[in-house]
Amino acid sequence: MGEDEEEVEEYLFKVVIIGDSAVGKSNLLSRYARNEFNLHSKATIGVEFQTQSMDIDGKEVKAQIWDTAGQERFRAVTSAYYRGAFGALVVYDISRRSTFENVGRWLQELNTHSDTTVVKMLVGNKCDLQNIREVSVDEGKTLAESEGLFFMETSALDSTNVKKAFEIVIKEIYKNVS
Ligand code: GDP
Ligand code: MG
Repeated sequence: MGEDEEEVEEYLFKVVIIGDSAVGKSNLLSRYARNEFNLHSKATIGVEFQTQSMDIDGKEVKAQIWDTAGQERFRAVTSAYYRGAFGALVVYDISRRSTFENVGRWLQELNTHSDTTVVKMLVGNKCDLQNIREVSVDEGKTLAESEGLFFMETSALDSTNVKKAFEIVIKEIYKNVS
C-alpha cells in the first residue's frame, strides 16, 4: 500500500443525479468532474460514479457523484442507486415541460429510497436554450420553495452554474454533518 492510500479520507459523501432521460444528467457530471461536454452522448456505460474533491474550511471533502446508466428510460432506477446518498440533484430540461412535470415523481422515488435527510437541489438544465424555453425561472423557483429544495438553472453546454449547483449541495451536506 502506498503512502497516499494510508491517508484518512475525512469526508466522503454520495450524491445522486436523477431526472428524466436526456435532461442532461450525464453532461452535468462530465462538465463538473472533467470539464467535458458531449453533444451526442449515449447512455453512460460502465462508469457508476465519479469522485470530485473540494476544499471546505481547509478540509478535503470528496463527493462520490452517481450517474444512472440510462435505466431511467425504463423507470428502473434501483434502490441500490439511492442507497447511502446524502445529496441529490433532481434535474429537468427547461425546454421540455414534461421533464418538469415529472419532478414530483422523482422526488417521491428519492424519498421512498432514502433513509437519511438528503440535501436536494432542483436543477433546470439547458438554460442556454432560452428561445425554446417551456418552463419559466419562476415556476422552477416556486416548486423548489414549496418542496424545500435548493434551486438553480444550469447549462452543461456553456457551464453556467454547474460547479455552483454541485458545490452548494456538497457544502450543505458538510454543514449538516460537521
Ligand atoms: P441524460 O440522459 O440525462 O444523462 O442526458 P445527457 O447528458 O445524455 O444529455 C442529453 C442530450 O442533451 C445530449 O444530446 C446533450 O448534448 C444535451 N445536453 C445536455 N446538457 C445540455 C445543456 O445544458 N444545453 C444543451 N443545449 N444541451 C444539453
Ligand atoms: Mg445519462
